Amino acid sequence: MYKVKFYKGNYIKRQKNANKDKAIAYVEQHFNSSASSQPNYSVVITGSNASTTSKNWGRWYARSISSSFATKVSGDNGILVGGWNGRGDGNLKHTEMPAILLEPLFASNPQQADIIRSEEGQLKLARILVESIERFFPQGGLVAFSVGHKYKKSNPKDRGATLVGGGTEADYAEKVLKKAAVMLEQIDNIPEQRTLRVMQGDKVLFETVIDEDDDLSWDAQRGVLQIP
Ligand SMILES: [Zn+2]
Repeated sequence: MYKVKFYKGNYIKRQKNANKDKAIAYVEQHFNSSASSQPNYSVVITGSNASTTSKNWGRWYARSISSSFATKVSGDNGILVGGWNGRGDGNLKHTEMPAILLEPLFASNPQQADIIRSEEGQLKLARILVESIERFFPQGGLVAFSVGHKYKKSNPKDRGATLVGGGTEADYAEKVLKKAAVMLEQIDNIPEQRTLRVMQGDKVLFETVIDEDDDLSWDAQRGVLQIP
């Protein structure tokens, strides 16, 4: 149901090739960076010509990252349409399918750099991306992945930001996308109904189908999640 293809070359060429292949969705993975170690927020860039699906998909991803990693969301409820003063727009605006550019965590924030380097952190990031694709593209199809910075003809040595404590943005972005690709290609049927999962790290402890209109309530005092 899902097939993943990694696109390389200059950004415009990646997008044009994904268009030619009729990919259903396009994802470019980055990590954010700043001169200060303080920033702690998640944001998704969409093209200036983004569809409603791209925007909703981006917001869903940014919100899910924020609740899983205890970050804030930045931009307009998690998205920056058209990028940082135009930066990032060209990475997406040539796509003919919904497309998002992910900036989930900061390479310049020491705690977040540790998460990015960890196997567990990468699996968590990959899983959220996979779940976002299942939710917004339940019909399956070809998903286009692009590793930010790496594999450009114009600047083959670019690896993006350096992580505090070692490593580069692009190398870890690639690790996350590779994990997401394996997970996506293993999905053999997308649940037709809403699913409730109890997770510990990346492990699913409990899973059940619930009604689309069920109103769940969490009672923190009793530690009970009530399904109607
Ligand atoms: Zn980047």
